[in-house]
Amino acid sequence: MSKTVVVALGGNAIQQVDQEPTYENQLKKVEKSCQFLSQLVKQGYRLVITHGNGPQVGRLLQQNEEAQAVVPSMPLDVLNAQTQGFIGYMIEQSLLNELKKNHLEASVVSMITRVQVSKEDEEFLDPSKPVGSFFTEEEAKELQESKLWDMKKDANRGWRRVVSSPKPICILEAEAIRELSENNNIVVAGGGGGIPVVRNDSGIDTGIEAVIDKDRSGCKLAEDIDADVFMILTDVNHVYVNYGKPNEKALRNLSIEELEAYIKNGHFSKGSMGPKVEAALQFAKTGGTSIICALDQAEEALQGKTGTIVKPVEKRVTVS
Ligand code: ADP
Ligand code: MG
Repeated sequence: MSKTVVVALGGNAIQQVDQEPTYENQLKKVEKSCQFLSQLVKQGYRLVITHGNGPQVGRLLQQNEEAQAVVPSMPLDVLNAQTQGFIGYMIEQSLLNELKKNHLEASVVSMITRVQVSKEDEEFLDPSKPVGSFFTEEEAKELQESKLWDMKKDANRGWRRVVSSPKPICILEAEAIRELSENNNIVVAGGGGGIPVVRNDSGIDTGIEAVIDKDRSGCKLAEDIDADVFMILTDVNHVYVNYGKPNEKALRNLSIEELEAYIKNGHFSKGSMGPKVEAALQFAKTGGTSIICALDQAEEALQGKTGTIVKPVEKRVTVS
């Protein structure tokens, strides 16, 4: 049976930092990314694709804020759903077109994905994720009262709304995603970390205004559909220790214990590489292989030739 690979696309797969974020520019970038993804399909891997949405949901939030005198603004969970649709559409169409060019038959489906989180998560006591525009102190106070937003001062740029980034408990659409994947559909799922929902005692789900880290939810997705490989594709080809220092060193093949030790020693920044190594570690602990590498090196990394690869040490079979 072919291997199931969950790939988590980072910001660089959808948007180039030095380019204006027009639809055309983003589409061009996605088309380029799909050239690399189509190579994995060509190699016979079953793909489930997840992706970030930070810059896209940030702009949608700004559109909502600026237009709210004319059109009612939508809550964050709805905006997440909107970006899943927007980005899913771009990936679906670009990947299908790319596969056609390569004479590969495939179907690509995007799944609006909800992710269960808990109101008990400690993040709800102290929200950490800044979203949307900057405000003056006075505006911040007003918003805190009128909209019950949590506002925090962001260094010297002003005040900003902060929302919680709770841990994903489970991917609510996992079974459907697994079935679609087993029936040879490439699935785009869990975009932007998924739509956070909380379940009450009667089993009723309600969306909440929070954001889930896409590396964490990608890991949960890989776990919930029993994927073989969880691959985090970003803009660096390796995880480094002593990153940015003269003695930096690229990590290649690692055991769970080795990665755990590096994490303990504080080698990875909180907002960027930190969540990726944590997610890679978590997936390896469930028995799978995790890879962190650059998008354009994905094929080589799956062959074990490059990237940072974390896997449980195989038990030696001793024959007596
Ligand atoms: P994405 O948008 O793909 O999720 P991020 O920008 O959040 O990516 O994280 C990738 C970035 O993490 C790299 O561009 C790199 O600059 C940074 N980074 C921080 N610490 C490390 C490290 N120890 N090793 C490699 N890259 C690191
Ligand atoms: Mg980035």
